[in-house]
Amino acid sequence: MAHVHVQDATASAPARPLVLPVVSLRSAAPWLLLAVVLVGLVGYFVGAEQGATSVFAGNAVHEWVHDARHLLGFPCH
Ligand SMILES: [Zn+2]
Repeated sequence: MAHVHVQDATASAPARPLVLPVVSLRSAAPWLLLAVVLVGLVGYFVGAEQGATSVFAGNAVHEWVHDARHLLGFPCH
């Protein structure tokens, strides 16, 4: 009688502890600053780019971000 041995690949692997990388605040600071600047720019163009403080003339930017503006609850029309 043939014996088929099926081995689970995960069963024989040695258990490895979860190792999370340690990132210092000093090394992460430039990326955090970049993230804050990018989020600020996106937030400005979505929430306030129109009217008195518009960077680009016309309604193009407003129309591009119109759905995001409504999604985030900014006042619109
Ligand atoms: Zn609207």
